[in-house]
Amino acid sequence: MTHEVTSLRRDDVRSVIIIGSGPAGLTAALYTGRATLKPLVFEGDGFFDTMPGGQLTITTEVENFPGLVRWEDGKLRGMTGPEIVDLIRRQAMYFGAECVGKRVTSVDFSRRPLRVECDGEVFHAEAVIVATGASARWLGLPSEEEYKNFGVSACATCDGALYRDKDVVVVGGGDTAVEEALFLTRHCRSVTIVHRRDQLRASKIMAERAMKNPKIRFEWNAQVVEILGMTEGMRKFVTGVRLRDTKTGEERVLACDGVFIAIGHTPNTSIFRGQLEMDEQGYIVTQGRSTYTSARGVFAAGDCADHVYRQAITAAGTGCMAAIDAERFIQANPIEFAG
Ligand code: NAP
Repeated sequence: MTHEVTSLRRDDVRSVIIIGSGPAGLTAALYTGRATLKPLVFEGDGFFDTMPGGQLTITTEVENFPGLVRWEDGKLRGMTGPEIVDLIRRQAMYFGAECVGKRVTSVDFSRRPLRVECDGEVFHAEAVIVATGASARWLGLPSEEEYKNFGVSACATCDGALYRDKDVVVVGGGDTAVEEALFLTRHCRSVTIVHRRDQLRASKIMAERAMKNPKIRFEWNAQVVEILGMTEGMRKFVTGVRLRDTKTGEERVLACDGVFIAIGHTPNTSIFRGQLEMDEQGYIVTQGRSTYTSARGVFAAGDCADHVYRQAITAAGTGCMAAIDAERFIQANPIEFAG
């Protein structure tokens, strides 16, 4: 066992620092809080992909978080993403988690105590749980920004049910786009996949499923250049997309009620480059079925380490795992403090 000695005093080193405040980070905070480790959670300040509460905060009604639903006149009503985040956050704080709206700007995971810096302010910890999530990639159009959450979404699982019997567009040609499109066919009247090339990037089996689905249509060689919509009083809604043919440059309008952008996700892991092992897409590599990363005392949970499941409930599950891994690790690997 490696024995670590530090010149820092016990009071200067937190047991656990958690970076990120989505369902993964907050669940890790809840569990480490209940383990009396007084976790310090850096929630982010809203800049550079640090969105306090994570991606759930940009979703509307969440119908698939087990248990967190209510019934109104026999109808199931999911809680909203922000409501769920707020509940877990308050639950974690009740058990001693300290949540601060700061953004971590750099880390040094090369030795314990682990070092975490927020704009020059330095913190140390025996263990760190990284739960920085991922950000959906967007097209970057001004009209996309205008209609985000008013007909433009990046999550079919979250928002698909809002488009019952409607016509929607899915932008992208990879597995995510096809998966989103297939999911949307359960609710929507039609789903048109708009892809900038003439063949899908998605795996063969997924592509075949999409091709066989009678509700799915394709617009090949097409790039969305504008989201079209209307405002009526306080209400904004999407009415279509303007497409540009990538071969001829010709433009045409395709009417639709919703647009799902599925051009991939980017894990929010740039500050850990060189510190933690990552795959070629930047997702943090964890060992086996644990949350252990390549750095001693550093654990990863949620979407920053998962490009497969990417659900609030799986993020919460791995947050729980990371807390348990961290708690056991700290117990088995005590640091010798100066005083
Ligand atoms: P991806 O494979 O990188 O595909 C992204 C797609 O979006 C590509 O078709 C790309 O077009 C298109 N795209 C990128 N930027 C665009 C832009 N600015 N405008 C228009 N289109 C744009 O990403 P992904 O689909 O999220 O998949 C990521 C990884 O997760 C893959 O390894 C995938 O296999 C995996 N995954 C697996 C499953 C599953 O097995 N069920 C589900 C989801 C994801 P081009 O093709 O022209 O580059």
